[in-house]
Amino acid sequence: MSGADTMGNGSGDAGGALAAALFAPMGSDGIYGRTRLYEDVLQHLTDFVTRERDPRAEVLRFPPVMSRAQLEKSGYLKSFPNLLGCVCSLHGTEREILTAALQHESGGDWTRSLGASDLVLSPAACYPSYPIVAARGPLPSGGVILDVAADCFRQEPSRSLDRLRSFRMREYVRIGSAEDILEFREHWMARAKQLAAELALPCELDVASDPFFGRVGQVMAVSQRQNSLKFELLIPFSPGAKPTACMSFNYHQDHFGAIWDLRRMDGEVAHTGCVAFGMDRLAVALFSIHGVNLARWPHSVRHALGF
Ligand code: AMP
Ligand code: ZN
Repeated sequence: MSGADTMGNGSGDAGGALAAALFAPMGSDGIYGRTRLYEDVLQHLTDFVTRERDPRAEVLRFPPVMSRAQLEKSGYLKSFPNLLGCVCSLHGTEREILTAALQHESGGDWTRSLGASDLVLSPAACYPSYPIVAARGPLPSGGVILDVAADCFRQEPSRSLDRLRSFRMREYVRIGSAEDILEFREHWMARAKQLAAELALPCELDVASDPFFGRVGQVMAVSQRQNSLKFELLIPFSPGAKPTACMSFNYHQDHFGAIWDLRRMDGEVAHTGCVAFGMDRLAVALFSIHGVNLARWPHSVRHALGF
């Protein structure tokens, strides 16, 4: 079975009603059409985040796909090969393509003829930023701040409304010295808690690790935690529920700097970090906690969001 009435958010029937107000089923878990109510809140949330933008930030909006070669070079396959979606298409002569497509009509599997293209579905908004900035040469003094966003894809099917396969990610990216990144991250961790309070979202901030793949991945996750490289803003979508990560605060050290030869003015390899807003998760959190009737949301929350 699939459909709005079967999408759970961990709270049974409430999940069904919530899903029906926010999403239209599209026949695949974690992929939903979005209602006007939902998009309206997402837009106000987007503006809310934009008001927090550093005036120095350069704005870039990315499409939902990016260069496969760039993502490979970024090391994604070493860390999260299970989550990656790759764009594939039928290649060859007209005859070869037709033969493959007709397989479907005769009950065969046309997808066996697919070949990978030069694109992958972007798994996070910030990946394309680093080669773009690196191509410009040494960083300006004071480094760089970017405001980026993309529709992201991760192959983690779930019926839960807080775990989508296609979701929107907004990020503020910082490129500079280690001190620049740590200061940026400190600012954002403090500010994120204030923003959650303005939205009346209960939250906690905690050290975290990425879901690195496999046994080697577990070692990477331990090291990431030990070095406090990732923090998350966690929100319980219902009282007592296991909290969901709605924002992350990441310090990559010189990982992307070394890969892309990002250099500071003094020639040192740049460090990078990013603050990611899971826009869909934040929107679902708002609806889960305050309900689907906007008129009944706390006045302070409506005011903060400009309703
Ligand atoms: P990450 O790069 O894993 O730290 O992801 C950044 C943010 O994107 C997370 O804090 C979430 O808010 C959001 N996010 C990650 N995975 C998903 C998902 N499967 N569905 C919805 N939002 C997600
Ligand atoms: Zn990022």
